[in-house]
Amino acid sequence: MLARTGIHNRTRVGRNRRALAEAVLGCYPGLSRGICVLLDSEEELRLKKSPWKRTGILGALIPLDHPAGGDINHPVVSRLLEAGKHTVCLWIARRVCRHRCAAEFAWVVAHELRHAQQRQTCPVMLGADRLALRPHLRQLSLPRLEITLPSELDADLTAWRVTRSILGQAVADAYVREQAEDGPAMDCYRALQAMDSDEPYDAPQETLALLRHHRRRLTCLIRESCDLDVFGYRVGDAIRKLEDAGPGALPQTP
Ligand SMILES: [Zn+2]
Repeated sequence: MLARTGIHNRTRVGRNRRALAEAVLGCYPGLSRGICVLLDSEEELRLKKSPWKRTGILGALIPLDHPAGGDINHPVVSRLLEAGKHTVCLWIARRVCRHRCAAEFAWVVAHELRHAQQRQTCPVMLGADRLALRPHLRQLSLPRLEITLPSELDADLTAWRVTRSILGQAVADAYVREQAEDGPAMDCYRALQAMDSDEPYDAPQETLALLRHHRRRLTCLIRESCDLDVFGYRVGDAIRKLEDAGPGALPQTP
């Protein structure tokens, strides 16, 4: 049996921040088991097999039921892998946990939790991201992944709704405005502002549209890949699965 979803407070955030993380978790009742939210005392994620660190990221979803989890060099991740009671570790960088702005913290936790929900509800969409779209954005002349990938847009739109529902619309919208005016990802927040509407955003169907549009070129690029996982990927299979899933495969949260 999987462990209850919980918070590992490694950077010792105060009571208010912890309560905020709990409130964000409360927006995802379907994720009540198997997730460890790691509020880390580290600023970066290190990999075992290479000196490269994943720098500059605010949060990450580390799968614990997939070989990729074993590549991460982190004592908590190693312990979780050994115990085998979690499927995912949501890593949150220290600077996010300790950020003066509560909206930034709520946003990042909500964003990563949405990826966990996407993984649980619509794994075929994340497979298309990881193996077909993400590695070939440049060759397909698509802009940076935060603006191109439906899973990322969906995670941000969800984070926006979660932040609004917990901290109020004024606080959440002010945060987006600030980021769109002056932040490291201004273009992403501007894209989000343009999308903000009551129309639900159907990320699996948007992914399907991307795969269909780029099918021929993607198939060629995948055939040329040296990465065995990418090489074994079949765009046609993913298109069929997404067609079968149909609209609304990923419910809106909250
Ligand atoms: Zn993301």
